[in-house]
Amino acid sequence: MKKKASFIFADEFLGYHFHEKHPFNQKRILLTKELLEASNVLTSDNLISPRMATEEEIALFHDQTYIDAVKKASDGSFIEHEGQEFGLGTEDTPVFEGMHEASKLIVGGSLTAVDEVLHGKTDHALNLGGGLHHGLRRKASGFCIYNDGAISIKYIRKHYNLRVLYVDTDAHHGDGVQWAFYDDPNVCTLSIHETGRYLFPGTGNISERGIKNGHGFSFNLPIDAFTQDESFLEVYESAIRAITEYFKPDIIITQNGADAHTFDPLTHLCASMKIYEQIPKIAHELAHEYCGGKWIALGGGGYDIWRVVPRAWAQIWNIMNTDSIATGSLPTNWIKKWQKESDTSLPLFWHDTEEAIPHIPRKTEIEEKNKKLLTQLLKYTTPV
Ligand SMILES: [Zn+2]
Ligand SMILES: [Zn+2]
Repeated sequence: MKKKASFIFADEFLGYHFHEKHPFNQKRILLTKELLEASNVLTSDNLISPRMATEEEIALFHDQTYIDAVKKASDGSFIEHEGQEFGLGTEDTPVFEGMHEASKLIVGGSLTAVDEVLHGKTDHALNLGGGLHHGLRRKASGFCIYNDGAISIKYIRKHYNLRVLYVDTDAHHGDGVQWAFYDDPNVCTLSIHETGRYLFPGTGNISERGIKNGHGFSFNLPIDAFTQDESFLEVYESAIRAITEYFKPDIIITQNGADAHTFDPLTHLCASMKIYEQIPKIAHELAHEYCGGKWIALGGGGYDIWRVVPRAWAQIWNIMNTDSIATGSLPTNWIKKWQKESDTSLPLFWHDTEEAIPHIPRKTEIEEKNKKLLTQLLKYTTPV
């Protein structure tokens, strides 16, 4: 019998680690896994070990000269300035020992997720280690070395020839994946993110629509800083529904960065846990409606690793595995174990409390601006 869903995990995912003070911290995957185990919704039947991606698979998207540079950086045989043109050894993406292998395993995790679904073992698969959407063809960028999302889509195109819808709800623009398929009419990308006016990577304007045969298959919703739940969900839900109907994908890949929450230290969006319940719920529904259930979800950003990411990511799994959202109190044994390591108070409930949600004076103005963007985007999904 087919399993409901597969959870890709290995302790070695935590080896994708720049240094102690770096905001990108994969401990959040372990925190999520243990939260689910403490909630009795993740068992060994669901856990799948990631395979290692081959270098040939990495090269489905990345340039060989870049892969060679990562390998050099990885084993330390690297003179600092050599890395500059490849974005290696920067403040965002510093060099660390074993970075090639650690990144290859992340990619392998996403390919394992793809194989689980496309070999018919399960309908849905989750690789929280992945979602490194800023990686470019020959450049590391924004904490991302190898772009597992782009490689996975190339792999699906090559081996299965399916039409792929990629939906990116990270607070930053999903630039690496967008550019990878900018001229490809068989891959449709939708990214909803904080406007690039003040936020990395600066791209993701609504006017970025694709080129050549790929024109009309790239969608962006650069929403205003300080956007809150209602407005985020209004534009997300309308856009993903309209685009899925317009493109009619065979499979959906979502990048589920969890950095749009008001607690996130790196962005200015002001969402609560509510969006992290609805985002996977709607994606799941559409996967069943259009793709015979085929849905792969990846991780991504998320820098409040104690208060936000575990709860947000656990809800993706809850939707995949039980088609429901967890509510009420978090398991006390989980809180007890991890509170010792966290310097902030861990949340007690799945939902945020009222006090957590800030009052935004410009709320109405922001909602109007986002609505205008949505109206413009929806025009692109109606045949003329
Ligand atoms: Zn992000
Ligand atoms: Zn399902």
